[in-house]
Amino acid sequence: MGIFSGLEALGLDKIVGDDLFETEAREAEEKKKADERAARNELKVHTPKILTEGDYIFLKTYKCPCCRTDFKNPTVKSNKARLIKQDTDLRPIYRDIDPLKYDVVMCPNCGYAALTSYFDKITMPQVKLVRAGISSHFTPREFETILDYSDTYLRYQLALGNAMVKRSRASEKAFICLKTAWILRGYRERLLSPDNTEGPVNEATITALEKDEAEFINKAYEGFVEARANETPPICGMDTVTMDYLVAALAYKTGNLDNAARLVSSILLKNTVGKHTKDSARELKDMIISDIKKQKGQES
Ligand SMILES: [Zn+2]
Repeated sequence: MGIFSGLEALGLDKIVGDDLFETEAREAEEKKKADERAARNELKVHTPKILTEGDYIFLKTYKCPCCRTDFKNPTVKSNKARLIKQDTDLRPIYRDIDPLKYDVVMCPNCGYAALTSYFDKITMPQVKLVRAGISSHFTPREFETILDYSDTYLRYQLALGNAMVKRSRASEKAFICLKTAWILRGYRERLLSPDNTEGPVNEATITALEKDEAEFINKAYEGFVEARANETPPICGMDTVTMDYLVAALAYKTGNLDNAARLVSSILLKNTVGKHTKDSARELKDMIISDIKKQKGQES
């Protein structure tokens, strides 16, 4: 006896019975599929695909404004890299990849190189300066698509050489110096990490990288102080407050504690400054105060 048993008299027992059975079977089948889908989705959420640097890179075609040659430059796919955090001096740190490695565009034919955002912003007189000062001595050089830090450093140095030769403004040169310092920091961190693929590590290499980084931070500080005095914001895409914060952070790093303290105080006094920048400025202020105390302790 079942719930449809009364229908037997109408000859429908078989039909109804069959229908019910199919519904149950279909429901069971659908539930099974849904469970499998859920399990797969759960798997997706809990085990993200491990991306390698190559997954973030593609070859972008450029036309060199100096020698008119078409060439391909390794480039990070837009919006692909995920920001994890920033250092005190605004260096961004991303998951799986250091996109800063790919921020120099370089013509392998004539040696013209610049930060991506400056590559096409070159005037005819500057083209002439690059041809005379760089291209006439340059030995053509191709790089691997996936750049290691050593090659990246070389490309940044070439970009800085170009900026000097084409008489760029202080801000452009300072920005290259700052990013070169970031590259050297990334290089050092990579050498010291368990995932090191950059070659053998020894104390001399680490010391040399630290020394070079400090030198580039010094140059960046010098250049941004000059840019802040002579150029109109936005400077290198940074508004006045961001620039003030950056100069304060660089002043701190180079031991110019008085200037760092003065700039940080002015940021904290402004009502228009966003929470994130104020929080960073407060952290920096604490670091400055702690260093000033240490200095005073050493003096007494
Ligand atoms: Zn070229």
